[in-house]
Amino acid sequence: FIEVRNLQKSFGPLEVLKDISFDVQKNDVMAIIGPSGSGKSTMLRSLIQLEQVGGGSIRVDGDYLVKDGIYTNPADSKTINSKMGMVFQQFNLFPHLTVKQNLELAPKLVKKEKAGDYGHRSIELLEKVGLASKADELPSRLSGGQKQRVAIARALMMDPDILLFDEPTSALDPQLTKEVLQVMRNLAEEHMTMIVVTHEMEFASNVANHVIFMDDGMIVESGTPDEVIKSPKEIRTKRFLNYEL
Ligand code: ATP
Ligand code: MG
Repeated sequence: FIEVRNLQKSFGPLEVLKDISFDVQKNDVMAIIGPSGSGKSTMLRSLIQLEQVGGGSIRVDGDYLVKDGIYTNPADSKTINSKMGMVFQQFNLFPHLTVKQNLELAPKLVKKEKAGDYGHRSIELLEKVGLASKADELPSRLSGGQKQRVAIARALMMDPDILLFDEPTSALDPQLTKEVLQVMRNLAEEHMTMIVVTHEMEFASNVANHVIFMDDGMIVESGTPDEVIKSPKEIRTKRFLNYEL
């Protein structure tokens, strides 16, 4: 579904993505692990067009977003963005809108949907993440875990083909982390296609079918969770995972 080839990105003289290639198939859950500064967020942000890359190709569902470093077709890039949802570490909810209004903003403004249509869906999705009772609360009245579940429901409102998560539980304590991971696990069981940047190795081992270890802007190792997390081959992966060398 997503095909990334030889992706390159620099911030000034700093090369952040050096030569990144991978594929994500429909129904895949891909976990990206790696140390701070290795380029994980930049990679995800490039997929949803929050960063522009300097080289390589990104192809989504057959359409090129970038081909050999060149962004060409704005119509395709719009179509591509509408197929992806993103969940950030810091939730990024609108503080002045209620939970329900947070969910309904994009369908209303971007898709120009009627209130009757998105009104049902927002309640359904809040039920799905266990927060229907909070529909009329402001985000400031929610716990971190609840905020993140609202952010996931909000991303689902646009009916994406793939969800991208950038360290969705890093700002949460262990109990709240559990609730959010459970929602993500349910999505995986429903065959949602996902790319998840995470430090939760148990989640990556049990839920992902593909793991990528990134270091210094490169994919050092990739494979199944058993290959990459249980028996890594590369020294850098072993070191990151704290295996005895
Ligand atoms: P973390 O685990 O800490 O979130 P990461 O793997 O997500 O790290 P990135 O945020 O992608 O790493 O950053 C990769 C490198 O790019 C870092 O060296 C960072 O300082 C640099 N960088 C990121 N964004 C910018 C920017 N807007 N301008 C300049 N440098 C940036
Ligand atoms: Mg990051």
